[in-house]
Amino acid sequence: MSSESEDTHSFQAEVQQLLDIVINSLYTDKEIFVRELVSNAVDALEKLRHLQLTEKTVADPDLGLEINIATDEEANTITVADYGIGMTKDELISNLGTIAQSGSKAFLKELSEGDRKEANIIGQFGVGFYSAFMVSDEVAVYTRSWTEDSEHLCWTSDGKAGYQIETSPGQHRGTKIVIKLKEGQEEFSKDSRIKGILENYSNFVPFPILLNGERVNTVEAIWMKPKSDISDEEYLEFYKFAAKAFDEPRYRMHFNADAPLMINSLLFVPSENPERPGFGQVDPGVSLYCNKVLIDSSPKSLLPDWLRFLKGVIDSEDLPLNISRESMQDSALVQKLNRLIAKRFIKFLDRESKSDTGKFIEFYENFRSFLKEGVITDLENRDDLLKLLRFESSAEQAGESSTLEDYVTRMQEDQDKIFYQIAPDRQTIESAPYIEAFKARNLEVLFLYDPIDEYMVGAIPSYADKQLVSIAQSGIELEELPGNEQEADEKQASALCQWMKESLGDRVAEVNVSKRLVDSPAAALTPGGQMSPQMKQMMRQIDPEFSSTKEVHLEINPRHKLLKSLESARASQPELAKLIAEQIADNALLSAGLLEEGRDMVSRVYEIMQQSLDK
Ligand code: ADP
Ligand code: MG
Repeated sequence: MSSESEDTHSFQAEVQQLLDIVINSLYTDKEIFVRELVSNAVDALEKLRHLQLTEKTVADPDLGLEINIATDEEANTITVADYGIGMTKDELISNLGTIAQSGSKAFLKELSEGDRKEANIIGQFGVGFYSAFMVSDEVAVYTRSWTEDSEHLCWTSDGKAGYQIETSPGQHRGTKIVIKLKEGQEEFSKDSRIKGILENYSNFVPFPILLNGERVNTVEAIWMKPKSDISDEEYLEFYKFAAKAFDEPRYRMHFNADAPLMINSLLFVPSENPERPGFGQVDPGVSLYCNKVLIDSSPKSLLPDWLRFLKGVIDSEDLPLNISRESMQDSALVQKLNRLIAKRFIKFLDRESKSDTGKFIEFYENFRSFLKEGVITDLENRDDLLKLLRFESSAEQAGESSTLEDYVTRMQEDQDKIFYQIAPDRQTIESAPYIEAFKARNLEVLFLYDPIDEYMVGAIPSYADKQLVSIAQSGIELEELPGNEQEADEKQASALCQWMKESLGDRVAEVNVSKRLVDSPAAALTPGGQMSPQMKQMMRQIDPEFSSTKEVHLEINPRHKLLKSLESARASQPELAKLIAEQIADNALLSAGLLEEGRDMVSRVYEIMQQSLDK
């Protein structure tokens, strides 16, 4: 180094402070320095590409827009070179000697505000170029700015005592950063190690990256291109890459927006639901990019949780590059992205459900649990998600499905409730007593078969201002059917109820005359509607005293032949009548899934058989 060309500078105080932290940090993800340097190279190439649109001449016009990375195990170095815009001396001083960039500023601000652990904060903000000093105390930046008459320069620093700038003839346009690795960081001089890092972070970088002369990034950032420039094959290839999958996606949604946020997003719905019952939740599959540079391949808060089945990429240039996993949750920008894209996707599904219903139904059959989870957990999108749901219904054939909207348009004029019944299948609903009254009155009932439906209806009290009500719920006021009033002797019926309540004791809370039953002798109802075995188990875990039968209301149908016979048997065969009353109650509990203890029932049935044969 000749002294006349050498120029020694000290770092701005903040840079010094930053470097002290970086150098002494125990931060474990040191590999991020590769990402930072590649991203700077991308920026420099991007800027040159821009300049070429307006400038007639640039230095070294024949050099391609590419990034060359070389590792040297013997010399223990890694070199990152680009043919981008390069830097002048002034630029070296202001860019690498002062803190201009937002990430580093935010980093320092955070540091000064609290006593948070350094390692944590580095991960949170990234430290741009200075991250090189995590693995090195000897960094050389060779550079030549893009103008034809620019100087050939070399910037060097140990990250401690300032930096030197000297002239260094023989440079190409662009920047070459040579990093002499510290003791303990030798891994970064290995081709395979760097290849792994690049594949992870930089696969969609829009410029060729060559590692020791070999191209490592294969896939283009196709999400940045206009839709018309992309063939179906390219989309498919990209899907397979991004989702690490071999299937064909069911749907793809590609959209580019400038406002209110810069977003380039390409999302896929895979062919199959990636979650199997009992195997837990999959990780989110949409990667977050900032101008083609990967920020996080599986960000947790980028999309609502229920969208974790989506694959693909969201790219927003508005994001700070070094936003990290930890800070993402608190980022207003990420929240905005989250809302925007979730809304877009729901709208997309809504459109698909109308334009190709068959295809949508197939999707729905596979993925409905996610949509329902969304209804439960994603308040902001609940109303729009509800519109996508489909149910079988008493008004339709088995296999046909209706939306809530369909139901509402079919409602009777004075009907103000949406009726549903939860059961494992249609047959169970149709063979249980609850549906009779609704069929007889032409009231439509939605059939809910999924275990998650129970939680879902619990979360949505109403749709379109119509309350959702289980038909197994007690206390539903139904209109009297014509003909019923005259037939039933009210006094006699209520006497029968009273007698039954006495016979049954605490086993039921009330016995009432039913307005709803048509063909069945009795039905067991609970104020909250029916409860599945899983739900009951859960309730018992919360409250050991919980009993789902405590509140049972038994409704009897005095018009039914069996009840009429029972009414006369009360006086003539009191012993048998009591047994039959108990059995009617147990049968009703059994059909309602409310019978908790069935042992008595068996001996009782034998007793009833015996007594009727003895007659
Ligand atoms: P940021 O990229 O967020 O601006 P960095 O610390 O990564 O922050 O880089 C600081 C600055 O140094 C950049 O803004 C850029 O002006 C300059 N710089 C870094 N690397 C290069 C490069 N390869 N080519 C040209 N300029 C660069
Ligand atoms: Mg940078």
